[in-house]
Amino acid sequence: MSVRVRFAPSPTGYLHVGGLRTALYNYLFARHHNGKCILRIEDTDRTRFVENATENLIKYLSWAGIEFDESLVEGGDYGPYVQSERFDLYREHAQILLESGNAYYAFDTPEEIDAMRQRQQAAGIAPKYDRSVMRNQYTLGDSETKNLIDGGAEFVIRLKVPAMSEVRFSDIIRGEVVVQSKDVDDQILLKSDGFPTYHLANVVDDHLMQITHVIRGEEWLPSTPKHVLLYDFFGWERPQFAHLPLLLNKDKSKLSKRQGSVAVEDYVEKGYFKEAFVNFIALLGWNPTADREIFSMQELIDNFSLEKVNKSGAVFDTTKLDWMNSQYLRILPFSDILEMLKPVLEKHNFVGFDDEYLLKVIDLLKERVIFVYQIPVFAPYMFEEIQEFEIEYMNKHWKENTTEMVKELLQKFIETTDFSHSNLSAITKQYVESLGMKLGNIIHPLRLMITGKSVGAGMFETMEVLGKEKSINRISKFIEMKESGKI
Ligand code: GLU
Repeated sequence: MSVRVRFAPSPTGYLHVGGLRTALYNYLFARHHNGKCILRIEDTDRTRFVENATENLIKYLSWAGIEFDESLVEGGDYGPYVQSERFDLYREHAQILLESGNAYYAFDTPEEIDAMRQRQQAAGIAPKYDRSVMRNQYTLGDSETKNLIDGGAEFVIRLKVPAMSEVRFSDIIRGEVVVQSKDVDDQILLKSDGFPTYHLANVVDDHLMQITHVIRGEEWLPSTPKHVLLYDFFGWERPQFAHLPLLLNKDKSKLSKRQGSVAVEDYVEKGYFKEAFVNFIALLGWNPTADREIFSMQELIDNFSLEKVNKSGAVFDTTKLDWMNSQYLRILPFSDILEMLKPVLEKHNFVGFDDEYLLKVIDLLKERVIFVYQIPVFAPYMFEEIQEFEIEYMNKHWKENTTEMVKELLQKFIETTDFSHSNLSAITKQYVESLGMKLGNIIHPLRLMITGKSVGAGMFETMEVLGKEKSINRISKFIEMKESGKI
């Protein structure tokens, strides 16, 4: 049997990071097993319709490198792949259930349903459709039901959940799940407007599209008993189920917008590399080996296994995402970084630098930033004269004898023809040691004069890249300002 899986998003506006994780796991599983990965748009809930939402989903799935074998774009033998184009199929299937006695008509108004809920609440019982007292085919009888329907009364079709039995199914991640049927609601399958609910459409399509594995978020686990009953009532073979762990905020509550962005597009906008983002998403709830965290898409495919997915929730930790991005920045070819850096520099009006210089700057700074665009923010002094000196840093490290020391050291820098970082370091060390002092006594003042800031890359490496002329000028200028009391 060849694997067929699907990602079945509802187009509600944007691709949620949890949705991306579901899509990715389906894709990895399909590719790992040489199976097919299908994209099905579940747009039966017209009240939630959002313009361009489907296009938006497809755009970001494709950005992430997730490819579908069958979809509304690719086509395929099991289409249409959009549920709103399959309404007849759902009506036909609701009819089959009515005929086999596994579904029934109900005529309750929203007010009557509300009143039922209030009664249940007052009695302290969980809200559930009460088939025995409400207005439906059972309480009214078949002929009254027919009369009502013929007379044009509004109706819904509900699933007839058998009383006093167990619903059992096995989940690849969670093991055996057992639910008492008394806890399962007589779910509406077809709404009064003739549209199916998610449950009916989802099961009918999974069957007709020959889906072998249903891989989806844990929030759908409570729906699965209803789905399992539907498979059984239709006499269809059930797919295998795998419910992925919830995504959590750092405080372990369910991932929410309130604590950070949950839309993939926001992370694209922020400039994360897609490889880093996908790698990060892939490890939310699964890790093939304890000793490694960086995986290419192919490596993720090669290693993927549903059995290794965790049951417990996975924290969506953006600090880890930042770390991941910085790791990818380190391994990205210099030429790629250069191409990204150029437009960024232009925006800052930092122009006129040749590639050779920029490549050196990249080499110097790429391990200090998370994003390429942070390079000129982190180290503007590589592209312009210092605009501002960190005064606190100066007050802390500029001692009484510092000016004298710096002047003497400057002389040695002027005299040397070798402005390599190793030579600069050797000269400086030798000098401070001759005074019986430590490198720390001079390195901070140097950093201040050369960069204006308290943090940066290696000091001597920075000087080497800036070059002798600039470095010496900055030191001399600073001494002048210091001596004239301008700073
Ligand atoms: N349409 C559902 C969603 O939006 C699909 C759930 C499932 O995969 O069964 O997530």
